[in-house]
Amino acid sequence: MFDDGARVAAMYDNRPADVAVRYRTSDIGERVAILPATCKVGAHSLARVGYRAQASEQDGVVRVSCNACNENVDVDHFWALTLVGAPPARVELDDTPYADVVPVMVDPRGKSARVP
Ligand SMILES: [Zn+2]
Repeated sequence: MFDDGARVAAMYDNRPADVAVRYRTSDIGERVAILPATCKVGAHSLARVGYRAQASEQDGVVRVSCNACNENVDVDHFWALTLVGAPPARVELDDTPYADVVPVMVDPRGKSARVP
């Protein structure tokens, strides 16, 4: 689920979004947001190191921060994904819908560090 926005807002800036959030509809008709399973830098599995997802309806974005990158104060510790409509009831991690996305990096460092 999403964190309380005010508490964590300070760790984010207003950079351009990378891409729109991908969605799917579950078997029972729930709208499920798919978030990238790998952090933006490509170094960590978010399921393994942990992450924070913060939805801002005001900005119309979801920001997905990698705990490992955030600890090291990496400028690219978070994805910025355009939110479409109301925040969804559920969130899942999956890289597949984001396979063709080229992240907008503040600190470009190539794709060599990306894990498969
Ligand atoms: Zn990371």
